[in-house]
Amino acid sequence: MSAGHSALPVAVVGGGPVGLAAAAHLVTRGVPVKLYEAGETVAANVRDWGHVRLFSPWGFNTDAAATAILREHGWQAPPATALPTGHDLYAAYLQPLAETPALRSVIETGARVRNVSRDGIDKVVSRGRGDYPFALTIDDANGGSRVDLARAVIDASGTWSNQNPASASGTPAIGEITFADRIAYGVPDVLGRDRDAYAGRRVLVIGGGHSAANVLLDLARLAETDHRLQIIWAVRAANLARVFGGGDADKLAARGKLGDDLRKIVESGRLQFALRFAVEKIERAGDAFVVTERAGSNSRTLGPVDRIVVCTGQRPDLSMTRELRLDLDPWLESARTLGPMIDPNLHSCGSVPPHGYKQLAHPERGYFAVGIKSYGRAPTFLMATGYEQVRSVAAHLAGDEAAANDVRLVLPETGVCSTNVVAELAANAGCCGGPAPADADACCVDDAETKATGAAGCGCSAPEAKAVAAQTCCGSRVDA
Ligand SMILES: Cc1cc2nc3c(=O)[nH]c(=O)nc-3n(C[C@H](O)[C@H](O)[C@H](O)COP(=O)(O)OP(=O)(O)OC[C@H]3O[C@@H](n4cnc5c(N)ncnc54)[C@H](O)[C@@H]3O)c2cc1C
Repeated sequence: MSAGHSALPVAVVGGGPVGLAAAAHLVTRGVPVKLYEAGETVAANVRDWGHVRLFSPWGFNTDAAATAILREHGWQAPPATALPTGHDLYAAYLQPLAETPALRSVIETGARVRNVSRDGIDKVVSRGRGDYPFALTIDDANGGSRVDLARAVIDASGTWSNQNPASASGTPAIGEITFADRIAYGVPDVLGRDRDAYAGRRVLVIGGGHSAANVLLDLARLAETDHRLQIIWAVRAANLARVFGGGDADKLAARGKLGDDLRKIVESGRLQFALRFAVEKIERAGDAFVVTERAGSNSRTLGPVDRIVVCTGQRPDLSMTRELRLDLDPWLESARTLGPMIDPNLHSCGSVPPHGYKQLAHPERGYFAVGIKSYGRAPTFLMATGYEQVRSVAAHLAGDEAAANDVRLVLPETGVCSTNVVAELAANAGCCGGPAPADADACCVDDAETKATGAAGCGCSAPEAKAVAAQTCCGSRVDA
């Protein structure tokens, strides 16, 4: 980056909890910043699922720099152990934060970042690449478009608007696009805003994560007074152990309770469910629909149903950064270094080793995806992780490398770490900074560097770790 560009602001894309925290850290450090939020207000995604009660209490949901700014304006923290809904999170924390003078002056709402590139050069040009500022194409609230320049980009645009489709293959099921008006994604508000669409209907819920659990529990509550409502649940998994979660062993009690409550509803027989159901096709059946699983000798059909709720997770929208040089995990589409630490094929604990700007960096210097987008398709992101990410990135952009490297993070575990040992080893093995130099007797760069100091190594040479490293080290995991 040439000296002239260092006066440009850092662009933050997205004003969710993590984007706002990024802006708070940058403002606190005196780094010029501009935050673009596509919604009419900040936290548009959180507001969309505002009826959902979070499973992490307030103590985990606020960022230190953000609360310091808020406190200057008389803000009182909500009780640390209380569980907010998404609406509470917005009303009691994110909205007041965005309205502080320090942040209000740097936030533009109704501003959707359509593309991010380097100004005047495309992805192919290497020479002097870092000397070109970032160029962001903005679609603004007045219907106009413009290009803004930035010295660095913190992409906190989330994944919520890019919901996974119904098909088990990751592509839209046959009929899914045709019948889109009867299909909802994410967590529709079946007890409130969207009640009319579900009352008295036959509803199929597809998916096995927390969102599915929330929808099923809300539908079950609706069914207590609405005896015509029928609930069917299709899960790709072979059993419900992971779906039900760690119960009492979950360090976040509300997250454990979510699974427990769902288990009770399943055991009560109040819903029909199908395990190992890999959706392939949605077809009309009179005024309703039937859903068929992947073709096989005995492929099953669910329905007829009137409405379908698809809760199969989200994925990052990578089109915005198509002209940037990104290094992504091949299947999670997270930052590559994060992949082995958060891969649901390997572990499901909800914990992740502390990580900061180094692990989030891409070949495109100055671009960082943070927040839930940094996890790509991995499902275990917690806000607290994002707050530590942006603290480190902001410190780095402010030139405070000591603070940027001093990453700390303690996350509550889910209590379903069936592969705890593997996860731990994978975390060690995965932290290796890339393959070891060919002439080094080491399993990775960190190991080689540690051995060069005379120490025994980073630990990934231990026999058990080696076995895991063969699967996970340096992002070179293999299919299970
Ligand atoms: C139902 C639900 C419950 C959850 N419960 C918890 C919980 O209890 N505890 C916890 O720690 N985590 C929880 N999470 C996970 C996660 O912490 C949240 O999703 C959190 O909102 C992620 O914050 P974020 O800032 O990364 O992304 P988001 O909150 O998704 O914010 C992204 C923002 O970017 C904006 N945006 C998107 N595209 C653009 C663009 N092109 N240009 C400009 N702006 C754009 C969006 O409008 C949005 O405001 C939950 C998630 C969901 C979906």
